[in-house]
Amino acid sequence: MIKINENYLKLQSSYLFSNIAKRVAAFQEANPDKGIIKLGIGDVTRALPQACIKAFHLAVDEMADDNTFKGYGPEQGYDFLREKVVANDYTPRGAAISPDEIFVSDGAKCDSGNIQEIFAGDIKIAIPDPVYPVYLDSNVMAGRTGHSNNDRYENIVYLDSTRENRFLPDLPREPVDLIYLCFPNNPTGATISKDLLKTWVDYARENKAVILYDAAYEAFIQDDEVPRSIYEVQGAREVAIEFKSFSKTAGFTGTRCAFTVVPKDCAAYDTKGEKHFIHALWNRRHCTKFNGVSYPVQKAAEAVYSEEGKNQVKALIRYYQNNADIILKEMSALGYECAGGKNAPYIWIYSETDSWEFFDHLLNKAGVVCTPGAGFGRCGQGFIRISAFNSLENVEKAMARIKKAL
Ligand code: PLP
Repeated sequence: MIKINENYLKLQSSYLFSNIAKRVAAFQEANPDKGIIKLGIGDVTRALPQACIKAFHLAVDEMADDNTFKGYGPEQGYDFLREKVVANDYTPRGAAISPDEIFVSDGAKCDSGNIQEIFAGDIKIAIPDPVYPVYLDSNVMAGRTGHSNNDRYENIVYLDSTRENRFLPDLPREPVDLIYLCFPNNPTGATISKDLLKTWVDYARENKAVILYDAAYEAFIQDDEVPRSIYEVQGAREVAIEFKSFSKTAGFTGTRCAFTVVPKDCAAYDTKGEKHFIHALWNRRHCTKFNGVSYPVQKAAEAVYSEEGKNQVKALIRYYQNNADIILKEMSALGYECAGGKNAPYIWIYSETDSWEFFDHLLNKAGVVCTPGAGFGRCGQGFIRISAFNSLENVEKAMARIKKAL
């Protein structure tokens, strides 16, 4: 008899987006003439930069000619992209990363979900709350978490991100082996200073732990004091793995391209206490289970780093950031306590009521869809997340409606 992996039964059903969809459908049925504005989901809405489109087309044409056609590429990504990533994202920031430490993939979601499989089953894991759900769910599936009681899994150390700590969690009170961090944060929009990030790096070094640093929203960082990579912090090469993505940087959510940085100094230990370098393990895993991102997509991603591409990406980010500025200004003017929205595309709004109640209120009174904070974890209760990923016109319309309704 075939048996299932029963860890899957421990997953808490992801009611969040299906619940939102149900409520939106009910509203639409009751109000067929009322247009709904969606500021809930974190998906980009604007076209790929022209530089990427041009490179994409040229690469597709190469695939149409026997002389330039490409079959399987290197699993880790083409050197042309890995070299551009290092030369633009790391070297200028004093981060000593080499091209062979970059693993190109089809998404930060897959990588941040898959990375846990190279670590032991009995390690202690620290995960922020609220959080991007992939970190937790991938560990539930792997059997590391135990069961969930009252919204929380037994074996997880939760890093509470609250109003009191300005959504920057304290170091864990008990020893942990693997730490997930995400800055700029989804859903709170919080960013971390280099000094504070250093306390995490120091903690990891002292405890022989590893930090999984999700920097998927790095392109939104405008302030020079905010680190764009964990490798700007001294000592991070030995204890940190970083996830980056072209999804929110350059509108690649539907095109799919990202990368993970695994420095060759970063190590984990076997049961005898012997050190093993994670780079070799991840390389093995990547080559066994992944066959590379398509050549045209990697050429399109490379174009992000051309002069034309850089200017177009900047304009794209400016566009969404302007939306975030408007949302932040208007919600603050209405008297709401807001976080995020600076160096980040998400505005995290304290509603003083149940998240779902506030969600319903915005939907029913203004026809605006947000995301209830409670869907991201216990500490998200009482908050909503508004996303800046939409057109300026829709954001302005949504804010005008909210002003009228509240
Ligand atoms: N990491 C975070 C924090 C995200 O919010 C998202 C997407 O919303 C991702 C990763 C997924 O990125 P990708 O599109 O590269 O899979």
